[in-house]
Amino acid sequence: MKKLLVTTFLSATLISCSNEQVSMEEGSCFSNGVSTYQWTMVTTWPKNFPGLGMGPENFSKYVDEMTCGRMKIKVYGAGEFVPPMGVFDAVSQGNVQLGHGASYYWTGKVKSSQFFTAVPFGLTAQEMNGWLHYGGGLELWQEAYAPFNLIPLAGGNSGVQMAGWFKKEINSLDDLKGLKMRIPGLAGEVFTRAGAETVTLPGNEIFLSLQQGVVDAAEWVGPYNDLTFGFHQVADYYYYPGWHEPGSTLEIIINKDAYESLPEDLKAVIKYAARAANQEMLDEYTARNNKALNELIEKHNIELRKLPDSVLIELRRITDEVMEDFIADDEMAQKVYKSYTEFKDQVINYHRISEKAYIDTRELD
Ligand code: CA
Repeated sequence: MKKLLVTTFLSATLISCSNEQVSMEEGSCFSNGVSTYQWTMVTTWPKNFPGLGMGPENFSKYVDEMTCGRMKIKVYGAGEFVPPMGVFDAVSQGNVQLGHGASYYWTGKVKSSQFFTAVPFGLTAQEMNGWLHYGGGLELWQEAYAPFNLIPLAGGNSGVQMAGWFKKEINSLDDLKGLKMRIPGLAGEVFTRAGAETVTLPGNEIFLSLQQGVVDAAEWVGPYNDLTFGFHQVADYYYYPGWHEPGSTLEIIINKDAYESLPEDLKAVIKYAARAANQEMLDEYTARNNKALNELIEKHNIELRKLPDSVLIELRRITDEVMEDFIADDEMAQKVYKSYTEFKDQVINYHRISEKAYIDTRELD
């Protein structure tokens, strides 16, 4: 009887609680204002760098807003806390909880990480997001990073990049022979096999290298970011399309122990803040690249050029060879490339009659 009374009382209390109306002043929120989680995020980008560097800033802002200040993330630019290429290790070892960068920087540690940023002639931004979030890509990415105590999430996308800045015209594959170019990753290997000399330089060294003739050509991102660096002052020809980086995904990496220590609601906030920051960057590039390209053409009189089809066909052929060699000795890379390629083969079929057909239709005379 006593037990029954207690149970009845508890039920009544629970009901009265759930019916209670919480009155809140306009502009206030549920947090008591005390910040209970102070996390640190290190990045491979200069602090507040337009586009790329806004990925971590937006992520931090969303987490702050969604938690009403209960979780704060302090973002450090490249070199402020750890060197840009030290981001992966700093998060993996738990020196900091979060990192923002591009997975292909870690190809030397995790070969398959190449596929989670960009593959020459590979997936576009929209397709990457489809593969990662609905095609098994993110699960593979998390599997690849698990041995490093890291959880990766997509954290931004540049969209299709530009092929780059050149001091001379490119009319045939022969024009690539002996050309010194800043172009990193697999695309760099493709250019090397085409006879070019390629180098990897951080973004802030490209301008001087072009100006001083250390390189004859360089790729960076696209009009919005390239205009900021002023490459139009040191090279005349601006080539498209970005066959080498058709939709580069950036990453947010989380130390797994730190993540596991969070309550469930904050785990969800991290996940959805990343998803929002991922889309936000693409939206910004989509809006700003057009304006920057117009400025480059109209104000700075650059020569906009398309790489000849014959050159692109050759680069694609060489890319296939490079990819085969790249995955040859790595089981995980083979597994990820298989998933990536299968997704690509399927999405190409549909995008041929949807995205591509529509864009072609819009351009009909
Ligand atoms: Ca690039």
